[in-house]
Amino acid sequence: MSEELLINATTPEVRVAIIEQGVVQEIFIERSTRRGLVGNIYNGKVCRVLPGMQASFVDIGLDRAAFLHISDINPSNVGASNDQIQGLVKDDDVVIVQVVKDPLGTKGARLTTNISISSRYLVFMPGMHGSSGVSQKIESEQERLRLRNVLTNFVVSTGSRGGFIARTAAEAVNEELLRGDMNFLIRLWANILDSSQNQDIKLLHEDLPLPLRALRDLVGPETERIRIDSSLHFDKARSFIDTFIPELAPRLEHYVGERPLFDLYHVEDEIAKALQRKVQLKSGGYLIVDQTEAMTTIDVNTGAFVGHRNLEETTFKTNLEAAQAICRQLRLRNLGGIIIIDFIDMVDLEHKNQVIKVLEKCLSLDHAQTQVSKVSAMGLVEMTRKRTRESLEHVLCEPCSCCLGRGFVKTPETTCYEIFREIQQEASQFDVESLLVLASPEVIERLVDEESSHLAELEEAIGKPIRLQAEALYTQEQFDVVLI
Ligand SMILES: [Zn+2]
Repeated sequence: MSEELLINATTPEVRVAIIEQGVVQEIFIERSTRRGLVGNIYNGKVCRVLPGMQASFVDIGLDRAAFLHISDINPSNVGASNDQIQGLVKDDDVVIVQVVKDPLGTKGARLTTNISISSRYLVFMPGMHGSSGVSQKIESEQERLRLRNVLTNFVVSTGSRGGFIARTAAEAVNEELLRGDMNFLIRLWANILDSSQNQDIKLLHEDLPLPLRALRDLVGPETERIRIDSSLHFDKARSFIDTFIPELAPRLEHYVGERPLFDLYHVEDEIAKALQRKVQLKSGGYLIVDQTEAMTTIDVNTGAFVGHRNLEETTFKTNLEAAQAICRQLRLRNLGGIIIIDFIDMVDLEHKNQVIKVLEKCLSLDHAQTQVSKVSAMGLVEMTRKRTRESLEHVLCEPCSCCLGRGFVKTPETTCYEIFREIQQEASQFDVESLLVLASPEVIERLVDEESSHLAELEEAIGKPIRLQAEALYTQEQFDVVLI
């Protein structure tokens, strides 16, 4: 598959787009003010042990304490062996921890003591004690055996205490390069241990910034071109490539074209579309994507009315197209966690099976781990997608300040009646000359029009004049009743 990597950089923000067959598939965004923390290694101090949850909170110097569950504690890393959290860590213990999940919403970061650090071809796990592994994506038995031997020989000959895993990129890479990577990782780990000695809460190791991480992790043999539109980042990328991945040099390009880089392949448009609820399908159908705190739901709909005769066939075609579109949207929007898909009802069992098959086939191209767990009696497809970064929507947006993220605002009518109740209450409690109502123009409009007779009745009942004033900056739900 032909792939291209676009890197668009300004000082505060870097964006990376993966293009496959001329279509954008994935977007990564990193802002200098809010770099992701996944992969960072810290000296952390245990600040609370929760035996009930078999977990502990660990201060790693962030606003919110991070979360360390017993299942993420490698007993040999904390120098204790116990099946209870209180037997493994206690308050004020200093532990070396790594972030596996960024803080999301109100949840703190999630940590592990199973440290791993990556290079281009390998992952080093200091706690793995001499064992080594090979990525499942490398299929050839012979190649797997060769890699395992290279890794094991190195570990045995150097007496290294950790273990290595060969990443997919290690396939067919010669022993010399692999040994170079292993030496690099061992030196890096020794440095980390060194700086952890003084027991302060601090950052010990930070993963590479996004553009370099993209070069290390997202570029493969199928990547034909890497285009960067900033000369600063291009220079950094070139020196990184010269040092670590020289074979990529011919594919790196400083983009100086007239058109903005993200206008190519309509990346900018696709980002805008990926923030909308509705996804139009070519067949006329559409998807509605809703992201909530607990899960994402995707509803598949047919477009215009279709006659009874072809209903099953049209539905089947729409569902097939939807299955592909959904996989693309999951990657593009970087949706993770539980995902519920409501395909359009089909009668034919064979059709149902084929839709699931297409869904699973497209999901297999996703870099993130996915699993279709079940199809419910109601025809809902339940699946999960592993989440490590925040979704595109969470990176770029915040809840709407008008409706506070509900997606609905109270009607002017509702606000009018709230105002009436407030006036009644205020007037009965306090002795005042008159009352002034401040509200949005829509609400004031309604008060002087549809509600004018009710307003007049109220004025008469309380025996005080009520003045109205439109405030352009008020939302439709906002109002103030002022006593004068
Ligand atoms: Zn809103």
